[in-house]
Amino acid sequence: MPIRLLPPTLVNQIAAGEVVERPASAVKELVENSIDAGASRIDVVLVEGGQALIAVTDDGAGMDADQMSLAVERHATSKLPDDDLVRIRFLGFRGEALPSIGSVSRLSLTSRPRGAESAWSLMVEGGAKGQPVPAAHPFGTRIEVRDLFYATPARLKFLKAPRTELNHAVDVIERLGMAHPDIAFSVSDGSRKVLDLAAKRGEADAALLARIAAVVGRDFEANALGLDAERDGVRLKGWAGLPTYNRATAAAQYLFVNGRPVKDRLVVGAVRGAYQDVLGRDRHPVVALFLDLAPEWVDVNVHPAKAEVRFRDSGLVRGLIVGAIRHALAGAGHRASSTVSAAALGALGNSGGHNNVYYQPPSRPGLPLLRAGMAAQAPLGLAESLPGLDLPPSAPSPIFSEMEEPEAATYPLGAARAQLHDTYIVAQTETGLVIVDQHAAHERLVFERMKQALAEGGVKRQGLLLPEVVDLGEAAAARLAERAEDLAALGLVIEPFGGGAVVVREVPALLGDADIQGLVRDLSDEVAEWGSSHSLEEKLFDICATLACHGSVRAGRRLGITEMNALLRQMEATPLSGQCNHGRPTHVTLSLTDIEKLFGRR
Ligand code: ADP
Ligand code: MG
Repeated sequence: MPIRLLPPTLVNQIAAGEVVERPASAVKELVENSIDAGASRIDVVLVEGGQALIAVTDDGAGMDADQMSLAVERHATSKLPDDDLVRIRFLGFRGEALPSIGSVSRLSLTSRPRGAESAWSLMVEGGAKGQPVPAAHPFGTRIEVRDLFYATPARLKFLKAPRTELNHAVDVIERLGMAHPDIAFSVSDGSRKVLDLAAKRGEADAALLARIAAVVGRDFEANALGLDAERDGVRLKGWAGLPTYNRATAAAQYLFVNGRPVKDRLVVGAVRGAYQDVLGRDRHPVVALFLDLAPEWVDVNVHPAKAEVRFRDSGLVRGLIVGAIRHALAGAGHRASSTVSAAALGALGNSGGHNNVYYQPPSRPGLPLLRAGMAAQAPLGLAESLPGLDLPPSAPSPIFSEMEEPEAATYPLGAARAQLHDTYIVAQTETGLVIVDQHAAHERLVFERMKQALAEGGVKRQGLLLPEVVDLGEAAAARLAERAEDLAALGLVIEPFGGGAVVVREVPALLGDADIQGLVRDLSDEVAEWGSSHSLEEKLFDICATLACHGSVRAGRRLGITEMNALLRQMEATPLSGQCNHGRPTHVTLSLTDIEKLFGRR
């Protein structure tokens, strides 16, 4: 068969295959065009998930009849004035969107440039371009896309339910909206508004955070840690949610590179890494990251839909993100999510006040520890002995401890007053009360101590009076024995015992009277899961977490007031102590105001 040049409509339909994958991608192109046109308000209508109709109306610069006619031609763009593919100042630049969309749908453009006497309208149906005709329209542009993919029935078959397609489109608009808080956005499904983002004015960072919160949830503002870091000309700004403010999926993770919403596996990995020891693997943080870097350092032209970018130095970007988030998390100290307390309060039957129920930590939570005269009550070294604080199990737990340590009430986590159900510590603070989950809290402390001990080059070991034999089965015992040397470095000394068992001779001193059987079984499961490819080095923190979990004071163990206060003081002094290793909160806070509300006093 002879070689021939393809007709333009076919070429456009082929391009549409990449650029316009589903209604949401058409929406993305059209809304980007409106943003590029300098719009201050963009209204979108999506009927049947966008398949029947996508209408995007803006109050931007507009086009006259000639320009409009050119705009629907392939590779026609106003956005590369100097032919400079590096320094791209607009969201668009490929000049492909309108001709692609026009080749697979019935497209109509209506536009009136600022100051023009009248508007013009133009139709493109299945790639066939009409003539511009006069129309009535206010300043700005309205683009309508009807019967998307009617000209390419194969693609039509891949569309999901209208509801799903609508959600994809809304996600696209939300992401664009987050990068442009000064623009108002709305989306309607033809009968009702499904998204309404008012323009945010005022101070730039505040406007940005307010817009993000409008998308991810109002309580994000109270649960977000600000990020601001720079390395070698790469700037990272944004917000990272507290670990306790987590989600079941990674959908609420937003990345912007030079103002462009993108998806990037590298960044997803960096975020996971940054949170790895404060969040279980099945939970995901909420983050909004804005990276700004010189255009030479990033290529945005690697994906037809411009949804991906390529970094010249991805290691640098990764390191910057991990470093900035970890730093912010460490600075958050023992802060836990406000929504946790809000939810607790909700469960108690309170309906209002949702947003006021959060714990505001002092700017430097560790500070009170330095107060003169307090050292005796809050010895820093106490946590070392905490696991071994072996009061006889029958030691009476004081129900009321009349002002034993009145000063302690001025600490952020207050003075311990009682232990309930041998599991929860109730403490009185200056402005309310704190309930601490003793196991979760202690697990966190042990974990942080282990990390620190590791960093300082050695975990202290403690011999067992009676070595403990653990039955694992031949394969598991052999697998674990292979790792004996690595585990010894962590303070856990095991030897093969024969008959599918191992014997544990020493444990990390930090662990105290740990549940050794459970610990060794969990470790053996984990080692099996990692296979032989991973060096234990990479998994150190996972192992620490397992060790910490088994070595921590159990729920159900009775604590004395001194132990409880020691635990509270340690929490205040320990980074990341607001959540356990799985992202669950270690404590909740109720303010007096909230308690008064519960009793109808307010
Ligand atoms: P690109 O955005 O890559 O330039 P498009 O096919 O999306 O390519 O658009 C072609 C041109 O049409 C744009 O460069 C712009 O000049 C013009 N245009 C498209 N949409 C609008 C709009 N909403 N308002 C004003 N001009 C627009
Ligand atoms: Mg465009």
